[in-house]
Amino acid sequence: MKIIDFNIREIAIPLKEPFRISLGVIEMAHSLVIELITNEGINGLGEAGPSLIIAGEHIGGQKVILEMLAKKIIGVDPLDIEKISHLIKKAVPYNFAAKAAIDIAIYDIIGKTYSVPLYKLFGGYHEEVETDMTIPLDEPEKMAKKAASHVNCGFEILKIKVGTNLKDNSKRIKAIRDIVGGNIKIRVDANQAWSAKQALEHIKAIEQYDIELIEQPVLAADLEGLAYVTKNSPIPIMADEAVFTAQDALKIASLSAADMINIKLMKCGGLGEAMKINTIAESAGITCMLGCMVEEIGIAILAAAHLAKGLKNIVTTDLDTPFFLSDVPVKESLSIERGKILLSENNGLGINKIDYGSII
Ligand SMILES: [Mg+2]
Repeated sequence: MKIIDFNIREIAIPLKEPFRISLGVIEMAHSLVIELITNEGINGLGEAGPSLIIAGEHIGGQKVILEMLAKKIIGVDPLDIEKISHLIKKAVPYNFAAKAAIDIAIYDIIGKTYSVPLYKLFGGYHEEVETDMTIPLDEPEKMAKKAASHVNCGFEILKIKVGTNLKDNSKRIKAIRDIVGGNIKIRVDANQAWSAKQALEHIKAIEQYDIELIEQPVLAADLEGLAYVTKNSPIPIMADEAVFTAQDALKIASLSAADMINIKLMKCGGLGEAMKINTIAESAGITCMLGCMVEEIGIAILAAAHLAKGLKNIVTTDLDTPFFLSDVPVKESLSIERGKILLSENNGLGINKIDYGSII
């Protein structure tokens, strides 16, 4: 089998409302969908949802890189995944969203060729994939209201975005805990908002609200600070922006800088690299979450859900962006009920249809 052609489509889907975190605001999911075409009639779908504020990757740049990478693998057998992985790694450093798009499409082809849903190929460990629901940064009352409505829809894990101010953050978390009661898991994501010292002050203040974990308390580059917080925090600490690739995961593991790692396909370059991160983490006693960017429009979410279902050490997910989009082109293949992502038994990613509707 050989890859003989490809097509790339740029799409922009407005979010239902602006999504605010401590790093900035996102109003549009701007993403690239690639279809890789083989000479045997088996095609694969992939997606690049670049995050400007997290990864510094812009849709225009990623489009150029994605085209370049796709041309590199014309004539290659898609089952030679190791060869493809090294071809695209060698072609350009960084640019992880574009790399992820190729990688996801290749895995879709592999699943279809071997006639298995991807979660089986990855290991088939978990019975179900549960996602949390993120509450973007806002006034405490508004966040609490949103939290209550998500809990009413069946979500049992909430991820609360917080900012720099300790008093405001405490009010946010108190308001949410008060309204949702004691049975809902609450995790907190600072998106690098604090220094190590501020992080420990925050943790001391919010510990009483039964917090499951704290995500990326300090700057991505501050691994010593992250290690210090992890060592001194009674609440488990998760690295997110500090870990893009497997090499970053190795640094975290060697410094014991986090209790958990948030793997995102758009940070690491796809499913292959995500498995490497997970292997390093698992060997170091670090569990993983499978997360996503709000720019992803569903194809990459499905890929991430398959990986999360396959691997034992991926113990939780944050794959909630379909709820933030005004439309989801793969909605027929991506069903989420009461916080559970229901994967089909169809081969590969299991996408039967993409409905772009009125999307640009
Ligand atoms: Mg995060």
